[in-house]
Amino acid sequence: MFTDYVKIIAKAGNGGNGAISFRREKYVAAGGPDGGDGGNGGNIYFEVDPDSNTLIDFRYNKKFKAENGKNGEGAHKYGKSGEDLYIKVPIGTIIRDAKTNRILADLSHKGQKELILVGGRGGKGNSHFATSTRQAPRFAQDGENGEEKELILELKLLADVGLIGFPNVGKSTFLSMTTSATPKIADYHFTTLEPNLGVVKNEYGDSFVIADIPGIIEGASQGTGLGIQFLRHIERTRLLLHVIDVSGSEGRNPVDDFYKINTELAKYSEKLSKRKQIIVANKIDIMQNENLYLELEKVAKENKMEIFKISAATKQGISELIKYVSQILKTLPKEDLTEVIDRKVYTLEDEEDYRIEKEDGVFVIKGEAVERVMRRVNIADNESLYYFQKSLEDLGVNQKLKEMGVKEGDIVKINDYELEWEE
Ligand code: GDP
Ligand code: MG
Repeated sequence: MFTDYVKIIAKAGNGGNGAISFRREKYVAAGGPDGGDGGNGGNIYFEVDPDSNTLIDFRYNKKFKAENGKNGEGAHKYGKSGEDLYIKVPIGTIIRDAKTNRILADLSHKGQKELILVGGRGGKGNSHFATSTRQAPRFAQDGENGEEKELILELKLLADVGLIGFPNVGKSTFLSMTTSATPKIADYHFTTLEPNLGVVKNEYGDSFVIADIPGIIEGASQGTGLGIQFLRHIERTRLLLHVIDVSGSEGRNPVDDFYKINTELAKYSEKLSKRKQIIVANKIDIMQNENLYLELEKVAKENKMEIFKISAATKQGISELIKYVSQILKTLPKEDLTEVIDRKVYTLEDEEDYRIEKEDGVFVIKGEAVERVMRRVNIADNESLYYFQKSLEDLGVNQKLKEMGVKEGDIVKINDYELEWEE
């Protein structure tokens, strides 16, 4: 129903390259190979942040990168591994691969942490490649690239604050004034039956979700067309802001309005009528009779409710109110969300290792397994190429090419490289 939705790009760290180095000692003419391995690239994890409830921060910060591994060095020195990166998301966030739309993780409980992008392995130093026939290998492996993906983060928004009040008292104006600073209300899809949602972010970086609940009074407690989903949604608000027009400009009586709305509310949902409520006395910029406000203030006291004087139109008093709301929200318990999050979790199928396609007479090899091997090849180095050929042999690529009828002189393409087939 109401979802916060952002696309980000995340890249795990690259592995460091293996070193090519030979031992140098006094009085030893040519020492053996001693190139150390490159460090692994940092992984990217997503973890639940219990204090956050929107994806608003991702609207401004969309690129994430874990640290690369350091290159290996001589004397068997390993490169340092890159630091892992932990990205915090609110509980209830689903992470999808934007390319396949597959769900990679569903962060639905406290303390949950998921590995989403794997850092590249560090390359092996040349000391690994010495054999009885090749005592001085002049090549080392390059580190693998870290995984990079465009990710979709999706969160079912649960409003923390509900706006209630008669029509024309200024609920929509309030919503647009408090949320326009950063996210736009228009970012969310709405129809008449859905509450209008806005995300408020205050100067201290706290954010919370406000829902303007249009149908609650208009259309009234009979719940004309309001689905159970809708009710469930607003029943989860932790705080109600009761907006009341105290200007007297439309002949309304604030105290009457206060009681009428609360009576309706109780008919509509007993649960909601017990929710903490703050009175928002609006339109003070055009207040004609101070007494109207003072009477409402008295009623507020009797009902042990806080009351704030504001003008949604001129923004007077709004920042004090928002500050208070974000503080009070921290003290109000969140409902357990597990009931809301009832979605299916998909498991990853194994990706195909590779496939060979014939395009205009060229054999094109595609797939992560082969591309990964290719990335680690130093094409200018014969020995490295030899290893590459051997890896393809091991993967069964050569066999498959032969089955597909490859002939001397045919072009075989992997990544950006074109190779000529030799019998
Ligand atoms: P809603 O029906 O409760 O959503 O009310 P709206 O936000 O649509 O506002 C109804 C009318 O009151 C609009 O013409 C607003 O411009 C006006 N209004 C809202 N807040 C204020 C305010 O603080 N001062 C003044 N002067 N007008 C306001
Ligand atoms: Mg409105």
